[in-house]
Amino acid sequence: MCGIVGYIGPKSVVPVIIEGLRRLEYRGYDSAGIAVGGSPDTPDQLELRRAPGKLRNLEAVIAASPIHGTFGIGHTRWATHGRPTEENAHPHRDGTGTLVVVHNGIVENYLALKQALIAKGHTFQSETDTEIIAHVIQDELELASQTTLSSFAAGGGPASRTLDANESESVLTSQAPERITLDEAVRRAVKRLTGAFAIGVLSAHSPDTLVAARMGPPAVIGIGEGEFFLASDVPGILHHTRNIHFLQDGEVAVLTTSGVTLTDFDNNPLPLKIQRIAWDPIQAEKAGYKHFMLKEINEQPRAVRDTTLGRVSLDTGHVFLPDMLITAEEFRTCTGITIAACGTSWHSGLAGKFMIERLARLPVDVDYASEYRYRDPIPDATMLGLLITQSGETADTIAAQQELIRKGSKTLAICNVVGAAITRAAQGTITTNAGPEIGVASTKAFTAQLTALFLFALYLAQQRGTVTDAESLHYVTELSKIPGKLEEILRAVDDQCAKLAKMFSTSNDFLFLGRGIHYPIALEGALKLKEISYIHAEGYP
Ligand code: GLU
Repeated sequence: MCGIVGYIGPKSVVPVIIEGLRRLEYRGYDSAGIAVGGSPDTPDQLELRRAPGKLRNLEAVIAASPIHGTFGIGHTRWATHGRPTEENAHPHRDGTGTLVVVHNGIVENYLALKQALIAKGHTFQSETDTEIIAHVIQDELELASQTTLSSFAAGGGPASRTLDANESESVLTSQAPERITLDEAVRRAVKRLTGAFAIGVLSAHSPDTLVAARMGPPAVIGIGEGEFFLASDVPGILHHTRNIHFLQDGEVAVLTTSGVTLTDFDNNPLPLKIQRIAWDPIQAEKAGYKHFMLKEINEQPRAVRDTTLGRVSLDTGHVFLPDMLITAEEFRTCTGITIAACGTSWHSGLAGKFMIERLARLPVDVDYASEYRYRDPIPDATMLGLLITQSGETADTIAAQQELIRKGSKTLAICNVVGAAITRAAQGTITTNAGPEIGVASTKAFTAQLTALFLFALYLAQQRGTVTDAESLHYVTELSKIPGKLEEILRAVDDQCAKLAKMFSTSNDFLFLGRGIHYPIALEGALKLKEISYIHAEGYP
């Protein structure tokens, strides 16, 4: 997903971060923010500026209310939890307001953590999963100090106890509240998170320190001359340094003015593996791939994983689809589903028909969204409309949604952009969490749509009692293996694909054949070839 840039060094922090975020703009985003510490005017505070929309909005906010500092962190957000508003933009603060976090990814167990923290008195300002991370770190800092204080109290405390002559000093020191460092608090906190995260953390109490941790989304550490960088991707810092450590899953990096130290989540030291990056900036945007489509094809495992994250229980096989304004009773008594979509999304809808009919035993019609309103369709209040669109702004799909609503059906959306137009009129949304797609031909967004449709089909089946618990568990277990299988296949067929492409490069006509659920896949394959090569192709049952 989107962008993180952090900096510690002698240069002016704000321009370094804004310029870095600008170089990550190709990754797509919906809002942006920055936090800096070490300002001469407010040395014990972090200054925060955030704005929805483009980076220039953030720059306007900073111009109106300037900030300076010696260390800082910035973020461009691609929303997964909560609309793209200023309140939901990163960085997010902890409850004391002295610690901030930026995050790429999804905290799967954020609701459970949030409830536990609310019970402890924490209050939250945003709808994001990210804000929870800041509070969990705060909680770890507080737990550490309380641990020794309470054992102190259990032992009677200094007031109720006479010290032996020779124990006074040592007892008092050993019983002083535990002070853990920011990085130790981060290490303890990340162990409580499940899901996917690349984070950057700053605290006003730890000047000139930037802590980063990774589990899933990419993050890199840049080593310059007396300056150090954190970024979600190489292009954000390539113009400052070519010496890069690619942060690995399970690593925590601590950046200070004197260097970078690396540990695992248990504080075991790890060596930095610095690589010299030879890519030019254009290559760097594509992570070394020849073009965006190839990069995005290789991002499919992550897209499927992120679409499934937090929505299934691997213990019970249950599917959870939060924020549904359609009741279990409505799902039970529903008499049919109309899917409306265009292009690639229409193909995923055709595949969805197989999944929903098979699992939930409910008739499904799949309509081309641009045609739907021209044929006087007959949906009603007992039927559901399901709209599929990557952007959530496809005009024809929105028009089909309006027609469904006009005829009394409730609608659901499968969409890759939180808060997009289609989601605002829908009674529920399943976001695909594929991240921005830059290649013209849809790849990872299509795979993520299929994943979302499968989740929806299974959810519906569970509401309607058309699958047993054992079957549910089986399906969810198999679904959880798909990202790994995709990775394996992508690795295994790379050379073969190149050979086949060469062999067929002079052919003029292609037929893609598929039976059953593979027929829509054949249609999608043909569409892909046409879009990319302008070679005639057809999908055929
Ligand atoms: N899940 C987080 C949010 O919705 C992070 C999104 C991102 O990676 O930008 O704020």
